[in-house]
Amino acid sequence: MTTLEKIVSLCKRRGFIYPGSEIYGGLAGTWDYGPLGVELKNNIKRKFWQSMVYERNDVVGIDSAILMNPKVWEASGHVKAFVDPLVECKICHERLRADQQDEIGNHEKSHKGQKVSWTKPRQFNLLMYTHLGPVDLAREAMEAISGFGVDQSEMDERKDVLDRFLESRVYLRGEITQGVHINFKNILDSTRLSIPFGVAQVGKAFRNEITPGNFTFRSREFEQMELQFYIKPESKEAQKWYEYWKQERMSWYLELGMSKKKLRFRRHEEGERAHYAQDAWDIEYDSPFGWKEFEGIHNRGNWDLSQHQKHSGVDMSYFDQEANKKYIPYIIEASGGIDRAALFSLIDAYYEEKDRIILKLHPKLAPVKVAVFPLLANKPELVKKARSIYQLLTTNYQLLPVAWDDRGNIGKRYYAQDEIGTPYCVTIDFQTLEDDTVTIRDRDTTKQVREKIEKLPQVISKKFV
Ligand code: ATP
Repeated sequence: MTTLEKIVSLCKRRGFIYPGSEIYGGLAGTWDYGPLGVELKNNIKRKFWQSMVYERNDVVGIDSAILMNPKVWEASGHVKAFVDPLVECKICHERLRADQQDEIGNHEKSHKGQKVSWTKPRQFNLLMYTHLGPVDLAREAMEAISGFGVDQSEMDERKDVLDRFLESRVYLRGEITQGVHINFKNILDSTRLSIPFGVAQVGKAFRNEITPGNFTFRSREFEQMELQFYIKPESKEAQKWYEYWKQERMSWYLELGMSKKKLRFRRHEEGERAHYAQDAWDIEYDSPFGWKEFEGIHNRGNWDLSQHQKHSGVDMSYFDQEANKKYIPYIIEASGGIDRAALFSLIDAYYEEKDRIILKLHPKLAPVKVAVFPLLANKPELVKKARSIYQLLTTNYQLLPVAWDDRGNIGKRYYAQDEIGTPYCVTIDFQTLEDDTVTIRDRDTTKQVREKIEKLPQVISKKFV
């Protein structure tokens, strides 16, 4: 059975994902992607960009700043409403989300015979912030609140420091979405797009999650891939595009090779929807810790643009030439997590056989595309020939990255590649020196075929389309 522990262990052992700041005891909710993890994540992002931006003419991409004017977050409603209900266990003071029933249940069980009571839920805001400016306001503010017996004029001065401290506060973006909506006018003015059209973006988001956990599933720093699709403000139109994007996004995950039976749609209940959403469906994955969201598809109505119009005073309407009228468009959004897509792809691809672990990742997601092995490391003629094939695959055929391994016995080298999902291994042996053929071994079937070197790219690339 695939457990989360097995995935965590594989990720650490082979260099997919390490705990953040590990040598200093870690930092809860942060993760570092190793040499293989960064390839996997980049492959997911590349696939997303390919299907969203390059294969369509109604979607463009942008890359907006992480730090934005704090008014953005007041307008978007996040300062007030981006909250989770926090409760505290009265026995051990652990803090949990009141709406996560399974975690509440597990916690209550952990106290065995003792009856657990909880504090009343209080709304905890998930936005993180930092301070901008050349002065160390945080320290000055700390000094300002310490010390007693100061006179009125000093008190005023201290209050001023505290005010400046609060004013210098800027949020780290809690979702990448707002960077798109505040650029709605810029995008319209600098392109030839007309409604319906979309804007895609990939980037980091930050949330002060109450309970980060389940490995990278709930982190405090993570990456999102999003589409914001602007349409006419009509409910029929919204319904049509909503259904369209639901199906498109589900197909995208299926094309990445994820098992159909482990994916499902789930509609949000009335009280569960985010403050901006008129309708919300999640794409969920059947993970070792239950069915979990990894992409949300939302009908945001005209919430974002009308809020930004109200708060900035800038006209956010669109002039529809065909209909000869002005309106504020509706937005259909697809918002997925790169880290969750990476985690669920790993879980989905994980198989154990009698003597090997295999990651049956889609070749496009596989961190290493092909591995090249000289049969023996101490035979210079084999190594030289293998080097030339390595060069051919990387430079001429761009099957990147290609792995090189000349250590240990060949069986162990195959298993080491199976465990990280490398679709093919190419071995250069003595016969290669005679007739320019190599063996190509398939990860999933373990079958080997002998092919001429010149046919190598054709045989291998077949799987990558
Ligand atoms: P959840 O209910 O799990 O907290 P959410 O509904 O708040 O998630 P959205 O605001 O819809 O999530 O964010 C869109 C996507 O961003 C999610 O589907 C998920 O893939 C990703 N995401 C959100 N929060 C996190 C997190 N803390 N860690 C990793 N990915 C996240």
